[in-house]
Amino acid sequence: MSERFTGSFTQQEPIPEAGIEAALRVMQSGRLHRYNVVEGEIAETALLEEEFAAAMGATFALAVASGGYAIATALRALGVGPGDRVLTNAFTLAPVPGAIASLGAVPVFVGVTESLVIDLEDLAAKLDQAEVLLLSHMRGHICDMEALMALCNAAGVRVVEDCAHTMGARWNGVLSGRHGVMAAYSTQTYKHLNSGEGGLLISDDPDLMARAIMLSGSYMLFDRHRAAPPPEAFETVKYLTPNISGRMDNLRAAILRPQLAQLDAQCAAWNARYRVVEEGLRDLPGLTVIERPAQEDYVMSSFQFLLLDWSDAAVAEVLRRCADRGVELKWFGGVEPSGFTSRYDSWRYAPSDRMPATDRVLRGVLDLRLPLTFSLEDCALIARIIRDEVGSVFQSGV
Ligand SMILES: *Cc1c(COP(=O)(O)O)cnc(C)c1O
Repeated sequence: MSERFTGSFTQQEPIPEAGIEAALRVMQSGRLHRYNVVEGEIAETALLEEEFAAAMGATFALAVASGGYAIATALRALGVGPGDRVLTNAFTLAPVPGAIASLGAVPVFVGVTESLVIDLEDLAAKLDQAEVLLLSHMRGHICDMEALMALCNAAGVRVVEDCAHTMGARWNGVLSGRHGVMAAYSTQTYKHLNSGEGGLLISDDPDLMARAIMLSGSYMLFDRHRAAPPPEAFETVKYLTPNISGRMDNLRAAILRPQLAQLDAQCAAWNARYRVVEEGLRDLPGLTVIERPAQEDYVMSSFQFLLLDWSDAAVAEVLRRCADRGVELKWFGGVEPSGFTSRYDSWRYAPSDRMPATDRVLRGVLDLRLPLTFSLEDCALIARIIRDEVGSVFQSGV
């Protein structure tokens, strides 16, 4: 009998007790709106922002309704408008080009390397096409950030980081999100903090953050923030910035604060799972493990590997066999977008020239989630099943 895995790839851990208790207190108070406070009270949302800014080493932080909203708000704060072109990754998820398109702006896609990071050569060739790069650290893979920033600074291109998959990760000791002018995070259920929906934005730039706070729908209540720029920063922008409501509420912030306090331990737990799968899949003909640079302190709540230059039929056979044994692999190579695995040619509202080297990588990318409800033994079993099935399909010819 071959082994089968019976866990759920979409099952996250419960909300910590402290979060449940804090959420109950918010509900009992009836004051769910972030600006609804009584004399002397500090809203959960304001506290979350203060704690998140400190955790990320940023001067300012803003909590909002979703990660996609955080990205769009950063782009708006930077002045991106209709018709403007914005550089972004060809290998990312739909909310990234979607945030660009939500402003009437136009994504310009930059290719991906076999290490699953943005292709810096392709970026260099396209830098003259835009004034902003929306850099997605897709699936937690961080490119050479010094090289990227040197290229962008030389070209006068400002960088917004999409850290939906890198909250807590570092490049050369610097936290992901601290290289660009603004960075966006998601607290949607499948990310590193879970409030169902939610987003966070950080920056050290008082003008950009004042704009973001006004955009998020703060009316003239920005003095109730604790991780916001001083009132002077709002002097003119408060009259010039439209309200595009997308605030976070106190209920979500209450759920998030105890999770943020545990972030480091959670990151270590994800990485322990990642390393078990990585070890289990090493040295298998036909399968490429992504080697991680020494400068990268990753946080991997998912695992990717490549079946490079395999036929579509052979990859589909691996998917089918693994699924039969309870292992849910997602494939970025499918012609039709399905689940969350769309790719740049799926986003037909933003047509792009084909990128053959990128297409070759995308055709080979397989992806699985590693929720913390999996034990290390679960991860070892998952790796054994993938190894078994990739090995036997490879032997029969791909
Ligand atoms: C989840 C995600 C987002 C957006 O987050 P939402 O909170 O779902 O809007 C942005 N970028 C990437 C890469 C994501 O995975």
